[in-house]
Amino acid sequence: MSTTIKPIIIIGTGLAGYSLAKEIRKIQPQTPLVLISQDDAHFYSKPQLSTAIAQAKSPQQLIITNVADMRNQLQATIYDYTHVASIDLTAKTLIIEHKLGEDELSFSKLVFAIGASPKPFPLLKNIKNNYRVNSLQDYATFFDIFQQSENITIIGSGLVGCEFAFDFTNKGKQISVVTPDPHPLYNLVPANIGHALQSELAKLGINWYTNSHIESVDVKNSIALQLSSNNVLQANTILTAIGLHPNIALAKSANIQTGQGIVVDKYLQSPQEDVFAIGDCAQIEGICRQYVAPILQSARALAQTLCAKPTPVVFPPMPISLKVSRYPIIVYPPTHMMGNWTFEQYPDGIKALYYSQDGALEGYALSGSQLEHRQQCLKEVQTLVTF
Ligand SMILES: Cc1cc2nc3c(=O)[nH]c(=O)nc-3n(C[C@H](O)[C@H](O)[C@H](O)COP(=O)(O)OP(=O)(O)OC[C@H]3O[C@@H](n4cnc5c(N)ncnc54)[C@H](O)[C@@H]3O)c2cc1C
Repeated sequence: MSTTIKPIIIIGTGLAGYSLAKEIRKIQPQTPLVLISQDDAHFYSKPQLSTAIAQAKSPQQLIITNVADMRNQLQATIYDYTHVASIDLTAKTLIIEHKLGEDELSFSKLVFAIGASPKPFPLLKNIKNNYRVNSLQDYATFFDIFQQSENITIIGSGLVGCEFAFDFTNKGKQISVVTPDPHPLYNLVPANIGHALQSELAKLGINWYTNSHIESVDVKNSIALQLSSNNVLQANTILTAIGLHPNIALAKSANIQTGQGIVVDKYLQSPQEDVFAIGDCAQIEGICRQYVAPILQSARALAQTLCAKPTPVVFPPMPISLKVSRYPIIVYPPTHMMGNWTFEQYPDGIKALYYSQDGALEGYALSGSQLEHRQQCLKEVQTLVTF
């Protein structure tokens, strides 16, 4: 009697899904592996989406490896444009729907790598020319719109909002940024670095509306945003970049525990047996980390765990970079706010160091020329390990 080995199924083919699959293949070349994606399943680098307009990169040019080559490379079954309709955890099966119909798949282990979705901005809900860029498909839509728009307003001044603002400069467009915060990167960097970034980008023609809430929206020939600062801002096109919510609906529908994200422990395992989560959708030991570095760390650990060697993920200090070459920033935000910032301010950059009360370096933010201290600062905080 022959027994078929049930595959590991990964839902999602973003950085998390594909990184995990690559790590599994390094350990077990033969294990049956299935990946499912609701999109085209081409492999691309999402961080490039906020630097691609400046380089005039078409969506096609952003594809690193197409889905057919990914199938070959990973020796995996990859379902593109496929929707997971339901999951039965007792039978360890799921129903998928795709252009050819419906299938039932069995799994040995199930991994959610389904990412996160842009937070909606309720006042702009029914506004047609309101875009978000969080996938290659979004970029494809926005790429065409960008060429036709004279006047673009970005809502949000976090990392992604600032990167898009910089990316859109020098293209003959009028670019504005609206934020309720007093300066860009408000939750990440000290005020002097945020203000320095703002003024460098203002020199490139970006109009800043800080401390500004959008109170109402009126659409005639263009979109009129009534701001709390009493300004009325006219835009042809709006790009919202106000953060992401982990995708949890699918897990929830299968009674898998969710909080802000899909709840997993340091083995990336949910309380439900043989169910795991990784990437932007995961809430690991209570924290959602929506960056590349934690995904790569998680993929290495989870691949070991799935291949019969349980391995907790360990997160070393992972600084965050702002991809704005005019005024680059690297920040490692302190986790406990019991210490003090010290500053060295130069005409072309700022070195901000955060020391605990007993004198240990717990965080830092470096801008412009001061990025030259990045290795030294990282070394100093490297003794701090999260788990
Ligand atoms: C513009 C931008 C710039 C960024 N820049 C940086 C940077 O410089 N540095 C950094 O560290 N991070 C950056 N990030 C964050 C980083 O890119 C993300 O953390 C990472 O790409 C998330 O990968 P993921 O695989 O978890 O999610 P995603 O890439 O969103 O992949 C999710 C996958 O799940 C699939 N999926 C979702 N729901 C379903 C479903 N129900 N059924 C089937 N499939 C489903 C999707 O189709 C997709 O394939 C940036 C993000 C953005 C948006």
